[in-house]
Amino acid sequence: MAFDRDQFIERLQQLRRPLQFAARQNVRKIAVLQDLEARLLEWLEAASALQPPPNIAANLDACRRLFTGFDRAEPATKIRAITTALGRLDHLMALVETPSSAIPERPPPTAPSASPHPDGKSASASEASGPSTSPAPINVLAHSIQFLKGVGPARAQMLRRLGIETIGDALALLPRRYDDRTNLKPIRSLQVGMQETFEGTILVSGSSRTSRGRRLYEMVIGDATGTMRCLWFQFHEAYMRQRYRTGQRVLVTGEIRINSYSGQRKEVHHPDLELIEANEREPLHTGRVVPVYPATEGLHQKTLRTVIKRIVDEYAPQVQDCLPPALRERLHLMEASQALREVHFPGAEADLEALNHWSSEAHRRLVFEEFFLLELGLALRQRDTALEERRVAYRGTGALADQLRAQLPFKLTTAQEHVLAEILANMRRPHPMNRLLQGDVGSGKTIVALLAMLLAVESGFQAAIMVPTEILAEQHYLTMHRLVETLGVRVTVLTSAIKGSKRRELFEAIAAGEVDLIVGTHALIQEDVEFKALGLAVIDEQHRFGVLQRATLKRKGYSPDVLVMTATPIPRTLAMTVYGDLDVSIIDELPPGRLPVITKLCYESRRGESYELMRQILRQGQQAYVVYPLVEESEKTDLRAATAMAEQLQREVFREFRVGLLHGRLKSDEKEQIMRAFSAGDLQVLVSTTVIEVGVDVPNATLMLVEHAERFGLAQLHQLRGRVGRSHHQAYCLLMADFPMSEEAKQRLQAVTEHYDGFMIAERDLEIRGPGEFLGTRQSGLPELRVAHLIRDQRVLAEARREAFALVAEDPHLSQPEHEALRQALMHRWQQKFELMRVG
Ligand code: ADP
Ligand code: MG
Repeated sequence: MAFDRDQFIERLQQLRRPLQFAARQNVRKIAVLQDLEARLLEWLEAASALQPPPNIAANLDACRRLFTGFDRAEPATKIRAITTALGRLDHLMALVETPSSAIPERPPPTAPSASPHPDGKSASASEASGPSTSPAPINVLAHSIQFLKGVGPARAQMLRRLGIETIGDALALLPRRYDDRTNLKPIRSLQVGMQETFEGTILVSGSSRTSRGRRLYEMVIGDATGTMRCLWFQFHEAYMRQRYRTGQRVLVTGEIRINSYSGQRKEVHHPDLELIEANEREPLHTGRVVPVYPATEGLHQKTLRTVIKRIVDEYAPQVQDCLPPALRERLHLMEASQALREVHFPGAEADLEALNHWSSEAHRRLVFEEFFLLELGLALRQRDTALEERRVAYRGTGALADQLRAQLPFKLTTAQEHVLAEILANMRRPHPMNRLLQGDVGSGKTIVALLAMLLAVESGFQAAIMVPTEILAEQHYLTMHRLVETLGVRVTVLTSAIKGSKRRELFEAIAAGEVDLIVGTHALIQEDVEFKALGLAVIDEQHRFGVLQRATLKRKGYSPDVLVMTATPIPRTLAMTVYGDLDVSIIDELPPGRLPVITKLCYESRRGESYELMRQILRQGQQAYVVYPLVEESEKTDLRAATAMAEQLQREVFREFRVGLLHGRLKSDEKEQIMRAFSAGDLQVLVSTTVIEVGVDVPNATLMLVEHAERFGLAQLHQLRGRVGRSHHQAYCLLMADFPMSEEAKQRLQAVTEHYDGFMIAERDLEIRGPGEFLGTRQSGLPELRVAHLIRDQRVLAEARREAFALVAEDPHLSQPEHEALRQALMHRWQQKFELMRVG
């Protein structure tokens, strides 16, 4: 019997659900979880019955051992069993999902004493030491920090707050800066405006008030040459008093400034302080270039430094280098253990400037490794797609698309022509397409997708386009239907608005191949829609879905070409990694004659002027949007506000025009009706929540007023603004903002008024929010970066990517002996992420 992969995956998922549920429970609940054992064993049995290949079967056996005796085990043992089993399932999924063994087999993780036993003790001592008996380097890194001398449970707890659980985590916690304490200056020679470190004795310490009544904590610190005032405006008095007493010696680091009141006295605000113990003259904390770590409350800089020093001394030499020596040599990368030593405790000759900019050779080496492993994973995935055989072959000549082109009222831009050619060529290649089409709002992605879909249709296949909102589905349907019905192409739309028998009929028509082109919401692939012959799947406005990839469709038994479209102009550096295994096409030009949207920040007091401008454009026969934020926590209030606004605008402000209201809570057909009325120009003003954020295309709408603009994210504002400026008329975007607002909100609004280009906006967004927030883990589906930074280290990223792809081309299975360490490191880094990777 052939091994049924899909069915197997389904069984694994059945197994996962109760485990994930259990993993979310607290200890008390877990203690009383009953009959899980029987259920889990039953599912495992069912999975084994599918006769998986031996390596997979072995993993199932290991799971079975984990759960034998589960019901009677201690809660702590249960928890371990659950988490270990989840890890194993991930590993299994990865094995099954990557048939050509993207990452070759490696023993999966085994938690210490993972096997529950009725008496709650570990079943076997050998299993407790980890997957391998040889002292593999990764296992050293995986050791819990808690067993380290001088750490103990309390400190381990504090370290955990910094994300440090293991030796490896600790080594990856890089200093946030370095202080040069080789030659401490006397207080008299400290320079104003400089970041300085000096040593002295606390002469005075206590809280006081400024002349304006502001509370502050003050210390006077002196040495043989003079004194320095240190000030804190936010402080915990009891703590300060208790910790820093007069007579104590301290190291002080901070920027030296001049007292603004007297204009003479030097002082330091909120300096870093480190106590010097009575007879201490350890070379660790002073007299050298000293690392300063991101400490956490209750965990002092010195403690952290001491712990990390111990770890570096003991473990860094044991870290085996995973980079092949030849590569290291060619790129002049130092060895891992040396890099770790130098990055934590640089020698006297170190370049302080480079260290503080994360550009030292030691930094470069660590950053490279992190990016390299990341890109290697991506390269392996891409290789898998490239090895896959195309199941869908298009015999069409392109005549159908040509007919449509002949009817279009415009000519495609050069950029559109270019990406279309890329896409069509890709569709004719012997391997399936997995491509991202990126283009700023309004750049004309829809027509490109439609032309590609026509090649599929002409060749006798179906094509589907999936969109995130019903409104957009409806709009795309109308556009496409209008364009292709004369060509004899049968188009249909599937949203949740279509119910009952109509829905069933539609499903049947799709399954029977009676429709060629299907527009739908995401439900299209989530539900049990069956296609007769799906050739091309287009996913529009991908950022709303997360990185949805071919794997999802493949699991449904299809192997179509996939075109993912996004207007979130992910900066190129990020696109390379986030979409690392997709080919990328970029439309970098807007259709001709478009004027940049004039964007203005408006204050409540000048609302009247905004209305005046709006009235002007309405009188010229153009239309306008008024957009309301809708925040989940206050959804009802916001909705009421939007409704009231619509009424007031109609009754008082724009009596001579028609005002409509659109929001997500309306019934599907109501939404549809309003959107149609607005498209047709029957409504002149559309008050709306962010349901119009993506994709909506009404070229005659030339003004957008955004209420509470400070509440929107930057990318969102840019998307919204993209709804206007879709014709040759000058368009406007008015941002109404409320004060006071956060610093970040100010930056966002400023960025959106200053930049019109989506790439610039995205770069700014990334700077303001950082990559984690910008993408969200769910969206990026990548292993988390610990030392590397996507923007700061762009150049290293490009190099790592090049090298990784080259290496996979040369050794596609990493089977050469010199790549063994790399393969292990890769598995270690990616294993938890496989679930994310697959589904996105
Ligand atoms: P987006 O890339 O944001 O999805 P759309 O596909 O909605 O953009 O296109 C925006 C508008 O530009 C649509 O009204 C479309 O008809 C129009 N358009 C697309 N391509 C061209 C072109 N080459 N010349 C003029 N208008 C175009
Ligand atoms: Mg679009």
